[in-house]
Amino acid sequence: MNFSEIIGQEDAKNLLKNAIKKGSTSHAYIFSGEKGSGKMMLAEAFAKMLQCENPGEDSCGECHSCKQAESHNNPDIIYVKREAGKANIGVDVVREQINNDIEIKPYSSKYKVYIVDEAERMNPQAQNALLKTIEEPPAYAIIILLTTNHNSFLQTILSRCVTIQMKTIDTELIKRTLQEKYHIVDYQSEMVASFAQGNLGKAIELASSDEFQEIKSKVVSIAKKAAKMDEAEISAEVSAIKDYNNQDKKDSDSKKSQGFIEQMLDLITLWFRDVLLYKATMDDSLLIFKEDTYDIHEQAENCSYNGLNNIFNSLTETRERLNANVNFELTIMLLILALKENLNDKGNRSTL
Ligand SMILES: [Zn+2]
Repeated sequence: MNFSEIIGQEDAKNLLKNAIKKGSTSHAYIFSGEKGSGKMMLAEAFAKMLQCENPGEDSCGECHSCKQAESHNNPDIIYVKREAGKANIGVDVVREQINNDIEIKPYSSKYKVYIVDEAERMNPQAQNALLKTIEEPPAYAIIILLTTNHNSFLQTILSRCVTIQMKTIDTELIKRTLQEKYHIVDYQSEMVASFAQGNLGKAIELASSDEFQEIKSKVVSIAKKAAKMDEAEISAEVSAIKDYNNQDKKDSDSKKSQGFIEQMLDLITLWFRDVLLYKATMDDSLLIFKEDTYDIHEQAENCSYNGLNNIFNSLTETRERLNANVNFELTIMLLILALKENLNDKGNRSTL
């Protein structure tokens, strides 16, 4: 990974490249951002350029060190690993993989670079063990902590690290990247780019995910028929969603940026955002669900502003209920009923 291959994050890239060029790198960094925001790519580009034998504006890509970095075989770029089966990064991991190892001089490069992924998983003992090293590091040591939540660090760690906050990426740039680099078709790239809200990694993951397409179809089908569903249909839909959710939890993959139900609720929200947007502007070009404009137009006509507002409130309540572990089936049932009721408020002009 070179800096030049990273889309967006211009400030972070410039800061790190300039530090290398000026020889003013810090011994400890925190790269903070959500899953998919590119923290690991940034860390790998930084490590590679630090270790490059002929760095210019970027790593050269040709020297022995760069080749080793590319194949993850550079002995002086160390990926700190969590113990198998453990949710936390404990004190033993920090002692064995960082504190003891850091005393040994670099094998063949200028630096020893330690990359700690999911560093928010370090418990306080592990952080305290790391603190000693960060306070008095060998001159050649650079430690990069990658985290989704830098508030999980002790103040003493935070104050000794340079923190870089990953930025969201412009939706248009995400869309273009999906089309040009990943050959995703136009309408799909637009949909996924809008859904990813500035997170390129998430957009790439979703664009190639059959599962996401499946969830999207499900949401579109529910949104279209909600107004006309009878009790039996609602029950059937609720149990199908419950089964899907249970299956998703079973296969849960920690690399995935979002679970099934969160994606589903976000997609329903986006659908009604389209309805609201069309109702207010009559402009199709702003819509995300471009394949379904007929139904969006119809709902925009049939549903009042008040009804749409109730739907958005109901989506918020659904998220709150799920977070509070209210019965899953009941929560989803109430959501679908709210959609049904509010999509049918056409005749009730007093609510306009
Ligand atoms: Zn090189």
